[in-house]
Amino acid sequence: MDIQDIDTVRAWVDVDLGALVANYRSLEERANPRVGMLPIVKADAYGLGVRGVLQALEPLEPWGYGVAALSEARALRELGIARRILLLFPTLEELRAAVELEVTPAIGDPATLVRWRELARQADRRLSFHLEVDTGMGRAGFLSTEVERWLPEVLEAAAEVEWEGTFTHFHSAEVEDERPTREQWERFRACIGRFPNGSGGLLHASGTAAALRWPDYSLDLVRPGIFLYGARVVTGLPAPRPVAAVRARVTALKDVPAGWTASYGATFRSSSASRWATLALGYGDGLRRELSNRGSALFGDEVAPIIGRVCMDVTVVDVTDLEGVEPGSVATVVGGDPAGPASLEMVAELCGTIPYEILTGLTGRLPRLYAPARSGSGARSGGAAGEREGYGGP
Ligand SMILES: *Cc1c(COP(=O)(O)O)cnc(C)c1O
Repeated sequence: MDIQDIDTVRAWVDVDLGALVANYRSLEERANPRVGMLPIVKADAYGLGVRGVLQALEPLEPWGYGVAALSEARALRELGIARRILLLFPTLEELRAAVELEVTPAIGDPATLVRWRELARQADRRLSFHLEVDTGMGRAGFLSTEVERWLPEVLEAAAEVEWEGTFTHFHSAEVEDERPTREQWERFRACIGRFPNGSGGLLHASGTAAALRWPDYSLDLVRPGIFLYGARVVTGLPAPRPVAAVRARVTALKDVPAGWTASYGATFRSSSASRWATLALGYGDGLRRELSNRGSALFGDEVAPIIGRVCMDVTVVDVTDLEGVEPGSVATVVGGDPAGPASLEMVAELCGTIPYEILTGLTGRLPRLYAPARSGSGARSGGAAGEREGYGGP
């Protein structure tokens, strides 16, 4: 987006690419994978905009990128990404195009393996795949306990298609109880222990939580997502720097008497004369309705409670006790200090969900504005107007 247009934007997502790069580096250092990093950029880089995120990640030379859908792999190729792309959840229908795009599917069932071999024969190319092993996640992968049943088929396939890697996925790496992850790890090890020497390729198991909590399980590649994007999902371990902040401008201010009501259903009523501000942000932008009468907006360090129901396009906040809020003032509605009332983690908690869903729920109506990685510190405050020169991005 042009700087020119940015001046007319009512609400947006600030993405601090310097923080994203810092998060990548700190995770890489902690997990220390033997071969490299496989950052996960599915769902438009967790809602932050894959194009801007890739601008920050490419200079770090990751081993490859992980995506969920073929359309995401195609977007990466169209952006000029030449690295490996691991397609985590291919459908049979996506495989043909995966060949053309030189995308590597994760394969964890016989039908997909058969189809990939067929396509390799047709293309007369040595296509590659990563084998997924199900150690308890139950959603994809050959069952680790049935390795004797499927291994012959995989080895036979490996004569035609390159078995480039083998991975599993932990279901509870972020929780205190270590037993489920240990059990999955043991299942994975037992399974790959059955592979003939030299087969199985690159081994990987860890997303964010395991990479943080179980660096011993890093193997060849780690597959972090949410940590890069600035959400804390494991307590008591290095926290990521916040990356995303949802900002919105004030469209209007009004002074209301005691007993005035706010928004649909009149679920909020002023107890005394008050000043209310309307923010140009609603559930049509991805601001969750669960924040009605519960969430907060920040003007600098000052807190303005959300009052009444979040509407599709606007949200009312109480600014009675705040100085200097005017039409056009900018509020932070998601983001800011991780311990603060509008932090991504707090918003997720208030909504009874996880930061992943808050980020991926931000809609296309909000432009993503990127503070470039080279600025390093990412110390821009508050998203105040006049600090926008540094933005690049689409
Ligand atoms: C989404 C995903 C990841 C990334 O998980 P985070 O918790 O965001 O780090 C890693 N591996 C697989 C298979 C995934 O689906």
